[in-house]
Amino acid sequence: MSSALTEHPDLPRLRALLADAHRCAIVTHYNPDGDAMGSSLGLSRVLRRMGHAVQVVLPNAPPPFLRWLPGAEECLAADTAAEACQRALAEADLVLCLDFNRPDRAGVLEKPLREARQRVLIDHHQRPDMDTVAAFSDTSACATSQMVVDLLEALGQAHHIDEGTATCLYTGIMTDSGSFRFSSTTPHTMRVAALLMERGAVPDRIHAAVMDDHSEQRMRLMGYMLAERMTVLHDLGCVVLVLRREDLQRFGFKPGDTEGFVNLGLSMRGIRLSAFFLERPDRIKISLRSKGALPVDRLLADHFEGGGHVNAAGGQCSGPIDACVQRFMDLLPAHLRAHPA
Ligand code: 5GP
Ligand code: MN
Repeated sequence: MSSALTEHPDLPRLRALLADAHRCAIVTHYNPDGDAMGSSLGLSRVLRRMGHAVQVVLPNAPPPFLRWLPGAEECLAADTAAEACQRALAEADLVLCLDFNRPDRAGVLEKPLREARQRVLIDHHQRPDMDTVAAFSDTSACATSQMVVDLLEALGQAHHIDEGTATCLYTGIMTDSGSFRFSSTTPHTMRVAALLMERGAVPDRIHAAVMDDHSEQRMRLMGYMLAERMTVLHDLGCVVLVLRREDLQRFGFKPGDTEGFVNLGLSMRGIRLSAFFLERPDRIKISLRSKGALPVDRLLADHFEGGGHVNAAGGQCSGPIDACVQRFMDLLPAHLRAHPA
């Protein structure tokens, strides 16, 4: 299969770095999603087969629907094993940063990450900002997991992709591409997915493991949100979803329960932007999704300490949730006017 990274200028450097490195650490972003986990676990498995000692470290534990991934049980998470995570980063010859592109996205691991010996970036988000010895940033890639396959092909190491690795990487591509429906899905994505199937990834099983494992409480919370907590701004083509602390308490919220809720807004006729506000103990988490040429990452980067992709981004806000939603509503009309449909 052809690789999108064969001609990358940092490829020889990565080859040399890997030749010198024995201990590798892989780190991914806070609240790891399917692509963060899939790309990290997939790459870790191959690096081990290449003879490296590899530890995956996470700023916090993954949600239950990702804990079945091959190798997930061997990850260290800083919310339960902070010192071991710090040690893994300090002792690593090389730290590979997957699916994020700014140190602050590593949450509590930001400082040890900044102090690590050498960082390599492999990521597909907008506007990378990290001190690295080699950087592979492809904002056109639908998933970091797709980039990992490209990188392994370019390094001549793709033969190490076994069934477990294929399962991890397929999961990352499937989740970040919205099950192959977002505009980031390309013929190359399908070729990479085909290769992963040939190596043992089973799409229906992976899809069911990730998507059909919701609790009854989550289903009811979703229904409640759509019925009672959704504002439709028909004239603006926007949906605003808001879940407050008391809503979460009522439905026994567990982290991960609201995964994908923001996408529901976009499935309504005439809607091109969906916003989701989630009240967490320490902050208000904001998720935005959009269709077509309506960017959402810049809005969050400029006003809500966030970022991400053109059509999918996240951010945060401190203070009362109603004030946070109002601030967003105040910014919305001008942003939409600047990007007409
Ligand atoms: P989500 O809305 O699912 O949390 O995130 C959507 C996309 O934006 C993901 O690719 C995620 O990595 C990125 N993202 C989420 N939250 C933040 C944030 O606070 N800062 C930045 N830079 N990116 C974020
Ligand atoms: Mn990703």
